[in-house]
Amino acid sequence: MENKKMNCSNCGAVIEDTYYKCLDNCLQVNFFDTEEENCFCSEECFCKYMELEQLEVNEENDGEEI
Ligand SMILES: [Zn+2]
Repeated sequence: MENKKMNCSNCGAVIEDTYYKCLDNCLQVNFFDTEEENCFCSEECFCKYMELEQLEVNEENDGEEI
């Protein structure tokens, strides 16, 4: 039986049973050099890797009177 170790590309955690993988072709080409890099322990890690950020709706208008 093959026992290939997989690690989360964001935090480095060893993947036990399940993992997250990006299936979008365009993102795969842009973000991952190898198939092994496309492997995350959680949605949170994937979002961090992709630099997903939560912003306030009005943040862009900060200090600006309209
Ligand atoms: Zn992780």
